[in-house]
Amino acid sequence: MLADYHMHIENGELATEYVLLYKEAARRAGLYDFGVSEHLHNLSEGPRLLGRETPAGVKTRGWDTDSYISVIRSAGAKVAIEADYIPECENELRSFIVAHDFDYVIGSVHWLGPWVFDMSTDLWEGVDVTDAWRTYFRTAIRAVSTGMFEIFGHPDVIKVFGMKPPAGFYGELLGLYEDLAKAAALTGTCLEVSSAGLRKPCKEIYPDIELLRAANRAGADISFGSDAHYPEHVAFAFDTISEFARSAGFSRAAAFSERKKTLFRF
Ligand SMILES: [Zn+2]
Repeated sequence: MLADYHMHIENGELATEYVLLYKEAARRAGLYDFGVSEHLHNLSEGPRLLGRETPAGVKTRGWDTDSYISVIRSAGAKVAIEADYIPECENELRSFIVAHDFDYVIGSVHWLGPWVFDMSTDLWEGVDVTDAWRTYFRTAIRAVSTGMFEIFGHPDVIKVFGMKPPAGFYGELLGLYEDLAKAAALTGTCLEVSSAGLRKPCKEIYPDIELLRAANRAGADISFGSDAHYPEHVAFAFDTISEFARSAGFSRAAAFSERKKTLFRF
């Protein structure tokens, strides 16, 4: 049994009936627990908290946070958000998180300065891939080190389009994995094992097995997520990703309620 803690309803409605479709999918998949983690930019406070407008082409829903929380809870799901970690907006985000009744918060990195690297391959034109990976992991380590998040989502999403640095960077990359894993262990932040990458051009599980092994050695915990954007994505490829986590040495994963973590066997 697994818990799917990464789901979005942004393509549907903020309505109990819609969230119940996710609940039904979770029940069919035999999940232990599930949670909705809508993007912060879909809440009315999002643009202010992120310190920027969402990029062109990304729709925002402007949902009232209290309404969001009560609708998700009324459907029997754990209530979460997925918040972009942007270093200069850290304090405002922390205040927002503690002021609301979330069961957990997923932190993730999609923005590196003004650049949203997961929007399209066109945006990678002229980008130094090694620099992008280095900056991504340094920002990820910083995000995890804040201890603000219960989960760090899709920990190596920088590989989303399959743009990988040359082999010469591998030694440095392993060091960055170690630092991220140690920061996760130190702050109690779970690294998410996510099936979303299997649906993306990289066709890989997030994170890389070496990062997961480093997390296991460091004593960090993991959680599972599908990054479902439709009810049919719930628990997507969970057999595959749970096997993958086992192969890195894990046999327990995290569950959350009111920002308290417990571990269950899977
Ligand atoms: Zn997500």
